Amino acid sequence: MISTAPEYRGRFAPSPSGPLHLGSLVAALGSFLQARCQSGRWLVRIEDIDPPREVSGAADSILTSLEAHGLLWDESVEYQSRNSSFYDQHLDWLAQQQLTYWCDCTRKMIQQQGGHYQGYCRNRKLDNQGCALRIRNNQPVSQFNDLLQGKVCSDMGFASEDFIVKRKDGLYAYHLAVVVDDIRQRISHIVRGADLLQPTACQIMLYRLFNQPVPEYLHLPVIVSQPGLKLSKQNHAPALDNDNASGNLSQVLSWLNHPPPQDLHGAPCAEILQWAIEHWQLSRLPTSKELQQ
Ligand code: GLU
Repeated sequence: MISTAPEYRGRFAPSPSGPLHLGSLVAALGSFLQARCQSGRWLVRIEDIDPPREVSGAADSILTSLEAHGLLWDESVEYQSRNSSFYDQHLDWLAQQQLTYWCDCTRKMIQQQGGHYQGYCRNRKLDNQGCALRIRNNQPVSQFNDLLQGKVCSDMGFASEDFIVKRKDGLYAYHLAVVVDDIRQRISHIVRGADLLQPTACQIMLYRLFNQPVPEYLHLPVIVSQPGLKLSKQNHAPALDNDNASGNLSQVLSWLNHPPPQDLHGAPCAEILQWAIEHWQLSRLPTSKELQQ
């Protein structure tokens, strides 16, 4: 029988701002298992569009860690730094539809207006000199469904802003790049950390502008060292020890309420992953947005 179900295509999209740590392994492993248990494809994309935040050698170290943990991707790794022409094409299209405008407001000015941009430059007809490019967010997304978190209501202060799609320094903004690439790579399911739950509304808005089908979203809890303090490169979370790869996988699976059985302790990564693919169930995942380390 020919299956008519659309192809599952998932991805892990780390920014190379440091090596992988246990917190980022949650998103890597969660997106991998969700794809594999549906016989889907799993891609890796290095989101290196922000050179000032990039740490040299981090992209290679991330890929080495993924391999050491048995998280083997399909198709070749993409690097956002090579995709400028795609971002420009989409920005040109938005400009033709008069959906973008230039803005010279500083962060300080926006803070003084309450922290959310109020559209001050919408009709000022500025040119690009020293300006950021903003999107006209005429139809903000007020809610969406998440496969784990259920119905998510947007923080409208944030979701209804005319957000930046190209920065003053000429760099492409995360929202633009992530949506353009997920469309191009035909990503059907986005599984990532709950720290990206609120930005999702802005991204869905872009899919709608581009007339593209919106992917399914699943936001996993983020690991915190204390409430509100995400385990992250910025908070100096230690790099994954690749020599303890199967222990790391077991640790993350336990956090995600899928502790491997005793007899798999110390087993090779491939065996732990095989067990996890067979036992992975959304209904067993914790729905909290934060999990204490
Ligand atoms: N590159 C982003 C990060 O490392 C994640 C992007 C995404 O998964 O949508 O935080």
